[in-house]
Amino acid sequence: MRRFGTSLVTVAAALALVAAVAAPASADHSWNGYHWARTSNPFTLKLGDNVSGRWDAMLVTASNDWTQSSVLNTTIVAGGAKPKVCRPTAGRVEVCSASYGNTGWLGVAQIWLSGSHITQGTVKNNDYYFGSSSYQYNNTAEMQHVICQEIGHTFGLGHQDESGISLNTCMDYYHNTSASDTVSTHPDQHDYDELATIYAHNDTTTTVGQSASSPGNSSQTVSASRGSNGSTVITYIFWA
Ligand SMILES: [Zn+2]
Ligand SMILES: [Zn+2]
Repeated sequence: MRRFGTSLVTVAAALALVAAVAAPASADHSWNGYHWARTSNPFTLKLGDNVSGRWDAMLVTASNDWTQSSVLNTTIVAGGAKPKVCRPTAGRVEVCSASYGNTGWLGVAQIWLSGSHITQGTVKNNDYYFGSSSYQYNNTAEMQHVICQEIGHTFGLGHQDESGISLNTCMDYYHNTSASDTVSTHPDQHDYDELATIYAHNDTTTTVGQSASSPGNSSQTVSASRGSNGSTVITYIFWA
C-alpha cells in the first residue's frame, strides 16, 4: 500500500528510498514461492468475471496483459461467485467488484494454498472508493492499476516496490492521480521475468482447473491488501 500525505518525508529519506528502489533490478518479488501446480507451461488460468460494468474493460486489459507472460495465459469466463461475497472456485480465480465498505483497501487478493501450491484465488475490487467521487484517487487509471496488481498476486507475485514511487509496473504502490496518469497500470518486463522464474520447474500434479474434492485441503489462506490510506496490510489467515 501507499502512504499519501507524507509531507514530512525528508529529502534525505526520499533520496535514500529512491536509491534503495533503483538499485535492485534483479530483485525477486515472488510471493513466498507460492504458485499454481502444473505439469507444463504455458498453463491457462480461468478468471471468473464477477465485476460490474465499469470494471469489465479493465478486466479484459489485465487478462490480456498477464497473458503476455511466456508461462501462463488467462481467459475470462462467466463468474462463479456472488460479487459481494466472492467465494472461491477450485482451480481458478474469481474476480469480483462490489462496495465492500470503508475497509481501508482498494483491492484484495486472496489465495488458498496446499503447501506452496495455489489451489484457488479471489480478487476483490472495492467500489466503495471507486464509486465515490470524494475519494482522491477515484479514476480509471488507479482502477486499472488495482485490478492488474491483485490479479498478479493470484499468480504468486509480490510487490516490486511499496514506497509509492512509480516503477511503471502495476506491482507497485504508486497512486494514479487522474485517468490520463497511466503509469503503473500494466505489468513490466520484470514481472514477466519473475513469473518465468517462479514457474521454471514442472510439478507432477496440477491445481489449475481442478474441481477440488474438498476446499478443506487448503489449510491456509494468505491475503495482501492494497490500502486506500497508505498502510501495508499482509494478512495470513489460518483455517481450522
Ligand atoms: Zn511446484
Ligand atoms: Zn498488492
